[in-house]
Amino acid sequence: MGSYVERFENSIADFLGAKHTVAAVNGTSAIQIALLVAGVQANDEVIVSTLTFIAPANAVRYIGAYPVFIDSEAEYYQMDIQKLACFLTEDCTWNGMELQNHHTGRRVKAILPVHILGHPVDMDPLMELAAKYRLVVIEDATECLGAKYKKNMAGTIGDIACFSFNGNKIITTGGGGMIATSNETWARKAKYLTTQAKDDPLEFIHNEIGYNFRLTNIQAAVGCAQMEVLADYIAIKRRIAATYNQAFSDIPGIQTMPEAPWVFSIYWMYTILIDDKLFGVDSRYVLRRLQSDKIQSRPLWQPMHLSLAHHEAYAMDCPVAECLNRTALSLPCSVGLKDEEQQRVIDVVCSCAKH
Ligand SMILES: *Cc1c(COP(=O)(O)O)cnc(C)c1O
Repeated sequence: MGSYVERFENSIADFLGAKHTVAAVNGTSAIQIALLVAGVQANDEVIVSTLTFIAPANAVRYIGAYPVFIDSEAEYYQMDIQKLACFLTEDCTWNGMELQNHHTGRRVKAILPVHILGHPVDMDPLMELAAKYRLVVIEDATECLGAKYKKNMAGTIGDIACFSFNGNKIITTGGGGMIATSNETWARKAKYLTTQAKDDPLEFIHNEIGYNFRLTNIQAAVGCAQMEVLADYIAIKRRIAATYNQAFSDIPGIQTMPEAPWVFSIYWMYTILIDDKLFGVDSRYVLRRLQSDKIQSRPLWQPMHLSLAHHEAYAMDCPVAECLNRTALSLPCSVGLKDEEQQRVIDVVCSCAKH
C-alpha cells in the first residue's frame, strides 16, 4: 500500500478529464471488472470489433458472456458502425426492453469498441445506436491514451473505459491498467472488486467474491513518472508517423496510416497496408526482408472471428478485417527510434518494391 496508486489514478483522471479512475493490475483485468460493474452477466453478448488484440474478447469470456464480432471499416480500420447497425436491426429483436440476438437467443447487453492502433472509433453514431437499444458502452482505450475523438479524449465518451500500461503501450508501468468512468457507483464497485471485496476496514469480512487486481504502489509510482513524459511521447509518435507517411506517400501499393479529420491520433502502432498487385510483393515478403535485416515488423492480429479460441462466438461476415490481416504491416515506431534507424526501415521497405 502507499500513496502512489491514488496519485496515479488522479493524474490519469486529470489528464482525461474523467470523473473517476480505478487502477488495476493490467488492462485485461480492467476490462473484466468494467464488464462486471456495467452489469454484463453470464450468457449475455458483448459486441466487439473482430480486428483487435484478443484481450477484450477474452475478458468477455472470463465473466461467462460471449463476444459478437463486427467487421472493420476500410478507411481507419476501426469497428464498422454501419455493419454494427445492420447487426442490431437485422440479426436482433428489440422487445422494448432488451435486445436479443435471434441466431443465439442470447441477450445483447453491451458494445465494446476497441480503439485500435492509436486511432479512435467513430463514437457519435455508435453512442446513438447504444442509446436506441439501451446498450452499455465499454471503451477499450488501451491503445489510445491521449487520442481525441472530436473534442473528447478517447476513454471519456462511453459509459466506462479501460487503459493499459503494459510494456508495449505508449506509457508503461511494466504492467498495469486503469478504469475510467463518470459513474460513481461503478467506480466504487470497481475499487471494491479489484481489492478482494473487503467489507470491513479491520475484520476480514467479504460479502462478495472479489479479485486481487490491485496495481502495486511501486508500479503506480512508475506510472506517475511516466505521465510526465506522455505529452512528449505522443509528439514523438506523431513525428515518426509523419516521417513514414511522407516517405511512402508516392510509393504505388503502400497505403500510409490514416487519421480521420475529426480525430487526433496518437499513432500508437504505425501500420501500412501493402497491395501486392501494385507493390509487386506482399506484406509477408516485406516482413521477411525486414527480418533478414534484423528489423522487427508485425502483421496485425488474426481477426477474432477466425480464432479457434472464440469459435463459439457469433460473428458477422468480416471481409474487410480479413483483408487488413493479409495486407497490414506494423513498422518500428518506438519513441526511442532514431532518425537514421527509421530511414533504414524506409529504405528496406522501398527496396522491396517490384513495380
Ligand atoms: C494491450 C491491450 C489490452 C490489454 O492490456 P494488458 O495490460 O496487456 O492486459 C487490451 N486490449 C487491447 C486492444 C490491447 O492492445
